[in-house]
Amino acid sequence: MIPLIIAKKRDGGELSRAEIEQIVMGYVRGEVPDYQVAAWLMACYLNGLSDAETLSLTEIMAASGEQLDLSDIDAPTLDKHSTGGVGDKTSLVLIPLLAAGGIALAKMSGRGLGFTGGTVDKLESIPGYRTELPVQEIIAQVKQIGCCLVGQSASLAPADKLLYALRDATATVENIPLIAASIMSKKLAGGAQHILLDVKVGAGAFMPTRERAVTLAQTLIRIGEGAGRRTYAVLTDMSQPLGYAVGNALEVREAIETLRPDGCAHPRFRELILHLAARALVLCGLEPYWESGMARAERLLQSGDALRKFQQMVEAQGGDPRVAENLDILPQAPLVVDMPAPQAGYVAQVQPRQVALACLQLGAGRQKKEDVIDPAVGVEVLKSVGDAVQAGEPVFRIHARTEAQLLQAQATLQEAVCITPESVAAVSVLL
Ligand code: URA
Repeated sequence: MIPLIIAKKRDGGELSRAEIEQIVMGYVRGEVPDYQVAAWLMACYLNGLSDAETLSLTEIMAASGEQLDLSDIDAPTLDKHSTGGVGDKTSLVLIPLLAAGGIALAKMSGRGLGFTGGTVDKLESIPGYRTELPVQEIIAQVKQIGCCLVGQSASLAPADKLLYALRDATATVENIPLIAASIMSKKLAGGAQHILLDVKVGAGAFMPTRERAVTLAQTLIRIGEGAGRRTYAVLTDMSQPLGYAVGNALEVREAIETLRPDGCAHPRFRELILHLAARALVLCGLEPYWESGMARAERLLQSGDALRKFQQMVEAQGGDPRVAENLDILPQAPLVVDMPAPQAGYVAQVQPRQVALACLQLGAGRQKKEDVIDPAVGVEVLKSVGDAVQAGEPVFRIHARTEAQLLQAQATLQEAVCITPESVAAVSVLL
């Protein structure tokens, strides 16, 4: 009886796996109505979930649809997830780099919404790149070249999609066990034996405080390990945008620059890539220590192997592989205008949400799921926290489609940066 299960959760009881399954799978089959699931979600939100309930919910959602079987791939399999932020183009670099290092990755990513960008939108700025591949094609490509980077398949964890929509409509999204179960259900269905999690902390992240980010990371790890997957989480900074570029084609451009042996990489972004790569290589048993993992990741970038793997992946997914050599193939905005620093000093703050808002105003993101994005527009962040700056030196470079959008973004970006006369310490990307 569904009302009895809801009452048990409402009164602080712990539900069995069978009880959670009755609600979740009943909902997926259309037998349990929205209003009962909404009441149960609110009871979960208010009373929390035990570790056992969280693991059960995750595994039930993971098993609610198709699951990738990567068991006959002759390499360690890894999935990676970032909780998202502003300018986070990490997957575009990390996936080919790790594939070049002998790890197999069938990576599914989402689209951007609100202040966070989506890897799928970024990839679609590469002419011809297909982000929707059938599951069989995903597995075949991973077997052939070691990686793929595609959109989240609707056939995986359909229960999560349904529950997320209901959480969104009932103010029950911001609950750590529900968030963790949602994230990990897709990872478990993705079939990888190893899971690397990048939990972002700061004003531009889903988790603004370190305390909540730590709790989320611990919950994610307990689920992963509880489900028999080797899981590792890092906490990384999102108190300012990551790297130089925010905006779809601009972020692909930066990713390729980072992959190039002689490319112009942002030091914080490159540091994050090397660190995550080292953790992944150790997690998968391909390197004994973080230090040797760092050295191997560095070699994979310097040798050009990581860039060649990116090119192979782009070609395998129908994209124009010449993009790795010729960045002008990417869409470009007609107006490119620098924004100068109003005074000399040190950069004390670059507000990630203000930069994201400017990008939304330029047309780079979506406020609603149905919105169409402009791949060419966005903002380059030329200064990081701690940098010295001269009066009149460019702080942002805006890529706009229209004069009106440019003016709006300029006004927003005025508020995004804070320059002080006293020197300011740089913020490490690794927390
Ligand atoms: N991302 C997810 O995939 N699920 C959530 O619930 C929140 C963020």
